[in-house]
Amino acid sequence: MTITKSSTKMKEKSPSKDALIIGGGVSGMQAALDIANQGFHVYLVEKSPSIGGRMAQIDKTFPTLDCSACILTPKLSEVGRHPDIELFTYSEVKEVTGEEGNFTVEVLKKARMVEEELCSGCGQCIEVCPIEVPNEFDQNLGFRKAVYMPFPQATPSVVTVDMENCIECSRCVTACEREAINHSQRDETITLNVGAIIIATGYNLFDVSEYSRFGYSKFPNVIHAMEYERLINAAGPTAGHMIRLSDGKIPQSIAFIQCVGARDVNKGVPLCSRICCMYGIKNAVMAKEHEPDTDVTVYYLDIRAFGKDFEQFYERAKTRFGVKFIRGRVGEVVEDPESNNLIVTVEDTETGEVLQVEHDLVVLSPGIQPPPELAELVEKIGLDVDENGYVEARDTLSTPVDTTISGVYVCGCAEGPKDIPDSVSEGSAAAMRATISLNDGGD
Ligand SMILES: Cc1cc2nc3c(=O)[nH]c(=O)nc-3n(C[C@H](O)[C@H](O)[C@H](O)COP(=O)(O)OP(=O)(O)OC[C@H]3O[C@@H](n4cnc5c(N)ncnc54)[C@H](O)[C@@H]3O)c2cc1C
Repeated sequence: MTITKSSTKMKEKSPSKDALIIGGGVSGMQAALDIANQGFHVYLVEKSPSIGGRMAQIDKTFPTLDCSACILTPKLSEVGRHPDIELFTYSEVKEVTGEEGNFTVEVLKKARMVEEELCSGCGQCIEVCPIEVPNEFDQNLGFRKAVYMPFPQATPSVVTVDMENCIECSRCVTACEREAINHSQRDETITLNVGAIIIATGYNLFDVSEYSRFGYSKFPNVIHAMEYERLINAAGPTAGHMIRLSDGKIPQSIAFIQCVGARDVNKGVPLCSRICCMYGIKNAVMAKEHEPDTDVTVYYLDIRAFGKDFEQFYERAKTRFGVKFIRGRVGEVVEDPESNNLIVTVEDTETGEVLQVEHDLVVLSPGIQPPPELAELVEKIGLDVDENGYVEARDTLSTPVDTTISGVYVCGCAEGPKDIPDSVSEGSAAAMRATISLNDGGD
């Protein structure tokens, strides 16, 4: 089915006062709010069933250790109920033509097999669904049903039927008093007319299994940082109990290995990912907060604590929490097959000594990369990317959120690695630039 939408009356070639944001993470949400609060209509297209992005998966945030969900949830509900923000979740941009003031955008709204206006998110369908599959939101460490909501605060608060795993037993259909489940729903193509576009597609984690010497996916007690975030999260698969995957025991000694897939020319990832030092320190501190007697060591190349209060946070990790820091690139991680403990070999570059240290759990801190779909998206729009695959800014110094196409802007990690405060600031900056396009209509 094809639908054409515009909130303003479409006269031939008259500039559109609507904006499109692609990506519903914290930067895209901020951009949407800032544009909509100025009275413009915003379409927010998100590929997954809910907005929220990576911040929804994170437990606490550095350097204040505020609960991530406590900051994100009010923003989720503000976006979800804003009269001038129209959400297209579980959707993708298929085609973009036109120019500043008058872009025509085709959006594929995938069938989630649920009538969104009827679903209340009560979860009765989830209770009766007999199929359990690994939960990608929990980094596949827990399970979800074939009909599911990715997380409790998911926005919109509606379920999605995962047809790849659904056995069409119709128990969800019968359980739904509102008759919201519709297994015969089909994909829709929606055509939007917008005056400005913001790319806010965020990042993917570097695939740490490319470093076979660290033993990820070979040794059960080698995990990566986003898995760790889910393990220590009270709403995660272990209800916040930080356990080893091999035996469910609480680790007495944890190693954090930094710069996995960052600052490594040999792997084609020369860029510093900017966030890993701080989230690595945060995760080390969280280990101590959970179990103060745990022995915690961070293996690092350099500590780049460049933001406000970051250096103090690093100092507190050492002095108040007793986290150990060893400078050196880890050579390899091997497993003792009897205990499933891990032996980390590293040259301490401050003493020149080669160390072999045994730990119960190893957490790899991966760098980040553009999501693979970004290359396809920028090609559709005709945008340039930089040598690392991120959207290229027209001028990184003077117009950092403008792209090489007028009327198209970028914010957050779609432009390059950055933390939440910087992603939010860029969301606001891109919104400001986009409203200039909407007001001028490309003149
Ligand atoms: C382990 C870890 C811990 C972290 N901890 C902290 C912390 O404590 N404090 C901090 O400040 N920062 C932290 N960060 C960084 C933080 O996650 C980012 O700064 C923030 O998520 C960036 O927001 P964003 O909106 O740019 O991108 P994202 O959060 O990645 O959101 C992008 C959104 O776009 C969607 N999307 C992608 N492609 C498309 C497409 N083609 N079409 C439609 N939608 C699309 C995605 O599904 C996603 O919802 C951490 C990062 C990691 C890896």
